[in-house]
Amino acid sequence: IEAVHIVGGGLAGSEAAWQIASAGVPVILHEMRPARMTDAHKTEGLAELVCSNSFRSDDWEYNAVGLLHEEMRRAGSLILAAGDKHKLPAGGALAVDRDNFSAEVTAQLAAHPLVTIERGEVGGLPPAEWSSVVVATGPLTSAALSEAVRSLTGEGDLAFFDAIAPVVHRESIDTSIAWFQSRYGKTGPAGTGADYLNCPMTREEYEAFVDALLAGDKTSFKEWEASTPYFDGCLPVEVMAERGRDTLRYGPMKPVGLDDPRTGRWPYAVVQLRQDNALGTLWNMVGFQTKLKHAEQVRIFRMIPGLAEAEFARLGGLHRNTFLNSPKLLDGSLRLKAMPRLRFAGQITGVEGYVESAAIGLLAGRFAAAERLGRTSSAPPHTTALGALIGHITGGHLSADDGSTSSFQPMNINYGLLPEMEPPANDADGKRLKAKERGRAKKRLMSVRALADLDRWLTGNAMPAAAE
Ligand code: FAD
Repeated sequence: IEAVHIVGGGLAGSEAAWQIASAGVPVILHEMRPARMTDAHKTEGLAELVCSNSFRSDDWEYNAVGLLHEEMRRAGSLILAAGDKHKLPAGGALAVDRDNFSAEVTAQLAAHPLVTIERGEVGGLPPAEWSSVVVATGPLTSAALSEAVRSLTGEGDLAFFDAIAPVVHRESIDTSIAWFQSRYGKTGPAGTGADYLNCPMTREEYEAFVDALLAGDKTSFKEWEASTPYFDGCLPVEVMAERGRDTLRYGPMKPVGLDDPRTGRWPYAVVQLRQDNALGTLWNMVGFQTKLKHAEQVRIFRMIPGLAEAEFARLGGLHRNTFLNSPKLLDGSLRLKAMPRLRFAGQITGVEGYVESAAIGLLAGRFAAAERLGRTSSAPPHTTALGALIGHITGGHLSADDGSTSSFQPMNINYGLLPEMEPPANDADGKRLKAKERGRAKKRLMSVRALADLDRWLTGNAMPAAAE
């Protein structure tokens, strides 16, 4: 069998290599370190953790990333096995000894008879003789390769920065205050003239909000991020506030054409949220990309009328990050539509986080191996965390109203990406459950469903054991 080439030995590339070799298909893994380093990596080890040493919560019953851990374990993940082996005490989280973890991943791959590790940068489009390639070069993809990819995707479809606005769980928005309406009732893709949720502000509320933005604690840019200028259209909200007290009111918080049903008038200012996933469970705060610290975002954005009890599926941020407009560019098995011999995996596909990056590496590896073996493969069902994650990047995301620019931005796994389930109203003794208890019950139901559906998918997509 001809080898699959993998470019990038990070979290995603290492996992993809393991999955491919485990299916009995040879793989050549190309990693540019140590010959060429990134701005964040410090070692030559595979799967180096560039910042925190945590894979976040390990609770599969009540936490979406914990569920993703469990699904990956069941799918034979190398990253999870190495993480479990080098686990450090961290309460309910899976934190790892970063050096031992990376050494373990490197040693396991180096020892596998079907894996060849080649050190050196792939400095442009992978050669045409490589008939199956997984590109897993991460948020800090080297310039030569990202330029080559950009020549295939076009200017607007490979980003070098993420400008993330917070995303709120729909059920936590108070719709006795916020109302559905598009500006002047214009009809969007949903065709209703009510595509936005609008949170109204009085003058006093707006002034207090601007003051809070100005005083809020911000994260500073890393040196290598600071040299990249802000792009038009993605200025952080607090930078807009610094430019003048009315800048926001004439920008993303413009109230014109929005009639508050409680007063029948346009409010003084408005915060708009737009549906962010096809399920309608997640709503994006339009124009609210920010460098405010996470705790400050929660505190300040809960000042917005209608969002006092908001639960955030994702908080805002602005980082250097190379990623594709995947919903447009990739097919359901992560291949570039314009050049199907290239498959993408990891953060470059528009997921966020170590675990999510490795999860997409796991799927890309399985798809690439199945293709080489002449087998059909399907993505896991969208009721699973793995399926929801790949759904977010290859299909489930809604693009901007006018279709010209995509609002696709990287995302961590969260329950809002999975179809909802109705929690029981009462406990086993018939006692009425409180809202919070119902929320927990719902998560558990969704997790149990996910694991059952994943097991069925694994059976249906079983990989042949590696040749001994
Ligand atoms: P990486 O793990 O970065 O792997 C990509 C690999 O490709 C690297 O080894 C690189 O050397 C190699 N490479 C690049 N270009 C080429 C080329 N042309 N040829 C050959 N090899 C190449 N996530 C978290 O969950 N927690 C955090 O604390 C966290 N902190 C982060 C901090 C920073 C500064 C950054 C940039 C990201 C952080 N992330 C964090 C986000 C993300 O989860 C990680 O970046 C994760 O490592 C992404 O996995 P990946 O496999 O896609 O990319």
